[in-house]
Amino acid sequence: MNRKDALTEVFMSGLAAQPEAEPNFHQAVEGVARDVLTVEKNDADYAAARVLACLAEPDRVLSFRITWEDDTGQVQINRGWRVQTSNAIGPYKGGLRFHPSVDLDTLKFLGFEQCFKNALTGLPLGGAKGGADFDPRGRSEREIMRFCQAFMGALAPFVGPDQDVPAGDINVGAREIGWLFGAWRKHRQSFGGALTGKGLSFGGSEIRVEATGFGLIYFLSCMLHDRGETLEGKRVLISGKGNVATHAALKAMSLGAKVLTLSDTGGTLYAPDGLTPEAVNWVRIRKARGEDIAHPPASLGPRYKADALPWEIEADIALPCATQNEIGSAEAAQLVSSGVTIVAEGANMPLTHEAATTLQSKDVIIAPGKAANAGGVAVSGLEMSQNAMRQSWTPERVDAALRDIMTEIHRQVAHEGRVPGGIDYRRGANIAGFRRLAKAISAQGVV
Ligand code: NDP
Repeated sequence: MNRKDALTEVFMSGLAAQPEAEPNFHQAVEGVARDVLTVEKNDADYAAARVLACLAEPDRVLSFRITWEDDTGQVQINRGWRVQTSNAIGPYKGGLRFHPSVDLDTLKFLGFEQCFKNALTGLPLGGAKGGADFDPRGRSEREIMRFCQAFMGALAPFVGPDQDVPAGDINVGAREIGWLFGAWRKHRQSFGGALTGKGLSFGGSEIRVEATGFGLIYFLSCMLHDRGETLEGKRVLISGKGNVATHAALKAMSLGAKVLTLSDTGGTLYAPDGLTPEAVNWVRIRKARGEDIAHPPASLGPRYKADALPWEIEADIALPCATQNEIGSAEAAQLVSSGVTIVAEGANMPLTHEAATTLQSKDVIIAPGKAANAGGVAVSGLEMSQNAMRQSWTPERVDAALRDIMTEIHRQVAHEGRVPGGIDYRRGANIAGFRRLAKAISAQGVV
């Protein structure tokens, strides 16, 4: 066993959370530990502060009951959480997810990853994640609004511009952020930048909705530039049909790429000659209305392949933008057979450990979500700046700032990840994020 593996094994055996109880959290911590423990051990201050162990034990986990009334007058009960992982470099910051699959394991993994992602942006943003096991599917607008109000009723004391600033995530879009913000304002009797992703008329930022998908493509462009290539003519597979997937598709197309797919849990929308912006906008409208995409109008071009994944189609680049662990070993093998040479993660941790190993063994370059999808939180950080300054910046200004941030993230990650023959982006992102966190944590004493 080499030194890196030995250090990782000792560290993981000391983790309070158990792998059977919190598999996603374990997977995320182990992935980072492999890359950063040697950096920690080689710096006396970082080692003394036990930086990674601090980050692997959240500052605080809030767990609360959400009680609300459905349209028939029945009382409904859900569980909500906010995992405040670290505020060492700024107020807690990370999204809220409403989905039946939400549990503490998922939120601890996402909060941990968020710390590194936020550190990479260079902005003063700590790490957190939250949500509830609430399923909005089949619920009326009024029910979702009442749920949001009840959720914030429980969380409001712990949320504020300098305290904890949640944003959206799966099933929490601009509409839900509006309701959550309204409830926070009422509970706290205050107006401030306590959430991001707000509407433009009450403190939201231009480009926030587009930011994650656009940022992903800016990062991908930097990767290609490093290899002397561009997106022009590249065939791109995208999974998901949500906020990240559709905006990544639109930006990639605008830079000359051929986007062959989008997808959802039922199947894949496939256009052999490339989707058009009209087709992507049709998907966005259907998704916003909660309608499926199984029957695209013939005039739009693509067809829907039920139960199919995008990964078996021949292409150059894959952008998983749906959910965690959506690509396992079998899907990774398909990607290799399809000729894909770059996988850039729009979703958080879409690759299982085995999938990443398979891809790396075949020299497929992987851009990890903590770097590649940091554009969303970066523009959230810019929204917080605008709120604090009582300003609203133009779309051009925000977009330019987003592009600069993604370029700078790429520079740092490439610098730390440079290995003989190329760049190990996963390692680079872990180390670059860790260094910023470690400097802050070790400088602030034992707290
Ligand atoms: P959305 O809720 O807007 O969309 C997610 C979509 O993915 C849904 O339409 C869902 O389809 C689909 N989906 C879910 N599971 C699968 C699957 N196994 N296969 C295919 N499709 C699937 O979410 P976002 O676009 O906001 O987020 C997507 C990912 O990106 C998440 O991992 C999120 O954490 C991450 N992310 C999001 C950011 C943001 O700013 N929004 C920022 C950074 C990361 P269906 O309708 O069938 O359920």
